[in-house]
Amino acid sequence: VNTVVGFVGLGHMGGPMAANLVKAGHRVRGYDLSAASLAAAVAAGVEPAASAAEAAAGADVVITMLPAGRHVLALYQDEGLLAAAKPGTLFVDCSTIDVADARAAHDAAARAGHRALDAPVSGGVMGAEAATLTFMAGGGEAEFAQAEPLLSAMGKKAVHCGAAGSGQAAKICNNMILGISMIAVSEAFVLGESLGLSHQALYDVASTASGQCWALTVNCPVPGPVPGSPAGRDYRPGFAAPLMAKDLGLAANALRAGGVHAELGLRAAELYAEFAEGPGAAEDFSGIIRTIRDRSTQ
Ligand code: NAD
Repeated sequence: VNTVVGFVGLGHMGGPMAANLVKAGHRVRGYDLSAASLAAAVAAGVEPAASAAEAAAGADVVITMLPAGRHVLALYQDEGLLAAAKPGTLFVDCSTIDVADARAAHDAAARAGHRALDAPVSGGVMGAEAATLTFMAGGGEAEFAQAEPLLSAMGKKAVHCGAAGSGQAAKICNNMILGISMIAVSEAFVLGESLGLSHQALYDVASTASGQCWALTVNCPVPGPVPGSPAGRDYRPGFAAPLMAKDLGLAANALRAGGVHAELGLRAAELYAEFAEGPGAAEDFSGIIRTIRDRSTQ
């Protein structure tokens, strides 16, 4: 059975995600504050709504893909998204937001008589376009089951991680591993340089030994060993440093709120915040190796 979907936030990610729902035969009514983003979605078959509330009215499922938690909570409450929907509507938020904000969004939806799922994604704009995203979902079994056909039209894998907020929790834990390991791999290459070790030799050893990780073998921060990694195109993203800084900021908030002693997670958040505001503003997150090299005195 095809679903009527209200889709709010048709930017880099939401635009192609909504287009893939249309391709799968769903009726999608979309809204974005940006007229250009809305027009692009309409060209892909999305029906334009005049407001977020209009997109939600009469929908079976409302999907949001917005920059941050404050946008989601403002839309749900102040901008009347929850109030406009028919009772029992499923609200699926795919934005990457604070775990605490995700839980507040679940609560607000429940108070308004609706059901909710947090379902952030990994896979980037290319994954959104190719419908190969991975979704990590938090909420009830029934909510996950209802969302599943939509998630599989937009992605290749959906993992139900647990109760409300668990999808966001999985996302920030994973990206904390990624941020720390990219710094670790980058420091190791710069240490190798100072010891006279070639990039290829370190790669050949670490990629088949216990240093093996995605930051090394897929997104290698030095050019050469992994053709196609952003290092080979002067660090054009890929996964842009400001997005890594954002995700590590969310992890840092959760670390502090939970009283978790995670020195590397907090330090990685600081290093990426600095990098993303400076030389990394338009670079892949692996470009941080150049800052590490620049600050070394070899
Ligand atoms: P984006 O800025 O391109 O899109 C967000 C859209 O939301 C914009 O078009 C904006 O106009 C719209 N918007 C904001 N407030 C609104 C409102 N009140 N009503 C209607 N529309 C509103 O961002 P994006 O790259 O698409 O990212 C969206 C989310 O996905 C973020 O939380 C991001 O962290 C996450 N994410 C992004 C990527 C990526 O590679 N871009 C990867 C994984 C996750």
